[in-house]
Amino acid sequence: MFKKFLSTFSKDIGIDLGTANTLVYVKGRGIVINEPSVVAINNKTGKILAIGEQAKRMIGKTPSHIIAVKPLTQGVVSDFEVTEQMLKYFIQKIHKTTFSILPKPRVVIGIPSGVTEVEKKAVYDAALSAGARSVYLIDEPMAAAIGARLPIQEAYGSVIVDIGGGTTEIAVISLGGIVISRSLRVAGERLNQEIIQYARNEFNIIIGERTAEELKIAIGSVYPLKQNLSFRIRGRDLVNGLPKELLANNNHIRFAVSGTVKIILRNIRDVLEDTPPELMADFMERGICLVGGGSLLRGLDQLIAKETRIPVFIEEDPLTTVVRGTGIVLEHLDEFKEVLDSDF
Ligand code: ADP
Ligand code: MG
Repeated sequence: MFKKFLSTFSKDIGIDLGTANTLVYVKGRGIVINEPSVVAINNKTGKILAIGEQAKRMIGKTPSHIIAVKPLTQGVVSDFEVTEQMLKYFIQKIHKTTFSILPKPRVVIGIPSGVTEVEKKAVYDAALSAGARSVYLIDEPMAAAIGARLPIQEAYGSVIVDIGGGTTEIAVISLGGIVISRSLRVAGERLNQEIIQYARNEFNIIIGERTAEELKIAIGSVYPLKQNLSFRIRGRDLVNGLPKELLANNNHIRFAVSGTVKIILRNIRDVLEDTPPELMADFMERGICLVGGGSLLRGLDQLIAKETRIPVFIEEDPLTTVVRGTGIVLEHLDEFKEVLDSDF
């Protein structure tokens, strides 16, 4: 009775704790936070200087005693203390504006399926100490499938590929459970690294991570385009150390990222090969659902379709699918109890 009273008034929240971006959904309000998972820290004092957007702007531009950390890089909680601080910051940001006189919120958090039990427990504890009344963890591919409104509870096979910043998650879901999944530490950030390497090897120019990402988003493609795209890049000349500027085009990026793209394709094929044949028929009918920022790389959907001979569709707003999934779970907690992890 009292619990029911609490849930009527508290503004429960859903969080997509992504390696590149953290998104927060508040029940009844929708997505209220969408910021990079970056924390700027003063190395001398250990003090946190900025979190989110503000911290991301500092990457590559900090004096030596300030470091910008991506605590979830590579999809694992590589830096637990910083992750905890970041999570607290985001939860409390909402609590301050909405919850001050309301009961503590219940929190649903989507985390990469590759994280260990110890890391899960760490995220769970961080959310509790940040002021959550109860915490539920959900595997990211499951949250994504729910956000994409795939028929996860039915005896019907759905396949979801989530290409984020640090991890790519490939999962086959049926009857409310994950049938097969794979979590690769290869995704958007690795593409940026390949672009940096390529620029260095081919053009003798050193560019930073942010420039590489800009390039990828502006002109990146993994399939030949009808009309070429080009982009002016600025960096430092490897030979004389002076500023250098040049024009790159989509073919350069396609060559640069081809190795990483191949790894992703091969793993999708491996998962499909391990899938029970009855489910393959379902995939061929409905197609592979692509989510995550990496799914926006031009031509990736076409390339995956060609390589797997299964139709591919990109979810309507692939950067917010996971957090919308946590929102749907929040609104129907009882219905989704079995897909949640809540006993630690
Ligand atoms: P995560 O869930 O790991 O936080 P996201 O799903 O938020 O990751 O995706 C972030 C990744 O998507 C970044 O590596 C970013 O460079 C990449 N990305 C975002 N938009 C695009 C785009 N238009 N084209 C290619 N990659 C993109
Ligand atoms: Mg994600």
